[in-house]
Amino acid sequence: MSKWKIDNWIEECALKPIEYFSPTAIQKDLDIEINQIFDRLMFLVNDEKLKLSWRIVCPFCFRQVDICNNNDVLPRYVDCWECGEIEVTKDMVYPLFSISDEYRQELLKQKKTQKKSHPLLFARREKARISCH
Ligand SMILES: [Zn+2]
Repeated sequence: MSKWKIDNWIEECALKPIEYFSPTAIQKDLDIEINQIFDRLMFLVNDEKLKLSWRIVCPFCFRQVDICNNNDVLPRYVDCWECGEIEVTKDMVYPLFSISDEYRQELLKQKKTQKKSHPLLFARREKARISCH
């Protein structure tokens, strides 16, 4: 099931020092249709495992200008240090996801228990994690 592959990807990601990831990063790694990835990510947002943010990208130089939390109101204007003040339009805004603190804690806790009870299994998992990137 590709949705479980997505879940696995997120679990791996939670153990790395990655703050935000985009649906396209998963697409690159797993070769799953982007709509399917997005649906699964939104499901996990509702499940409070993930948090949704918005990345605002300058339409002229493609620099990331700002990141807003889902609950924030998007600014009407942003300042690109290269291009100056720009009015924010829909096509400049891209979804970004981050792992909620609670879920990350939970995953770390599970890892620790596995390490104690099953050292071999943990070693194998650890290897898989390194070779996947
Ligand atoms: Zn710019």
